[in-house]
Amino acid sequence: MQSDSALRIVWIYPDLLSTYGDQGNVLVLEQRARRRGVEVETVHVRSADPVPETGDIYLIGGGEDRPQILAAERLRRDSGLHRAIARGASMLAVCAGYQIMGSTFGGEEGQPVAGVGLIDIASSRGPARAVGELVAEVDAALGLPTLTGFENHMGVTHLGPGVKPLSKTVRGVGNGDGFEGCYAGHIVGTYLHGPALARNPALADLLLGWAGVELAPLDDFRYDQLRQERLNTVLAGQ
Ligand code: GLN
Repeated sequence: MQSDSALRIVWIYPDLLSTYGDQGNVLVLEQRARRRGVEVETVHVRSADPVPETGDIYLIGGGEDRPQILAAERLRRDSGLHRAIARGASMLAVCAGYQIMGSTFGGEEGQPVAGVGLIDIASSRGPARAVGELVAEVDAALGLPTLTGFENHMGVTHLGPGVKPLSKTVRGVGNGDGFEGCYAGHIVGTYLHGPALARNPALADLLLGWAGVELAPLDDFRYDQLRQERLNTVLAGQ
């Protein structure tokens, strides 16, 4: 049973899309909410099940081409996520999950596959696989520190006028045009794994804030130190 005051997190299709520890994004949101005294209820929605429309924050991860195509087909037939987003729910969509939120993406032979059309992006197969560390400076309007993460994808993503780039790449490929990820309304799409929210707690707080959580400051000293070490290493190494 859901209680009215609880934060409802929905983890979409962990059986199809969850690579490179993407499930850690769920854990980070849960922990950062609980550390602020917020009750959390998380639902893991397997691909055979309907996506509930009553969530506050939806998460979807990355994956290989075939599970990605399957996930897009199932999500296209399920209107739960569309209804949730229409009433203002937030979402973090990572890599394959990011691509399928758009109008189209590249399948295993590079063929265009229809996405779910929730955000104004179109993806296709890029010239080479992008693998490695990503560092990117976030759009100043969002007021977040430098993003760090790991990427592994063939796809490149073109942003339409309905979305803004999340960040500008300093290292790595991201969308393939000098930018990484996108945002629109309360939706963030990104190629960042790592998982993204463990490596970028400020991004977790952006989603929590959009979901109405009061963002009391947390002691993030140890995480900040780790972040800084990682950023220093990546920036010094290339
Ligand atoms: N299959 C997609 C691509 O290669 C997404 C990969 C991923 O999610 N890591 O672009």
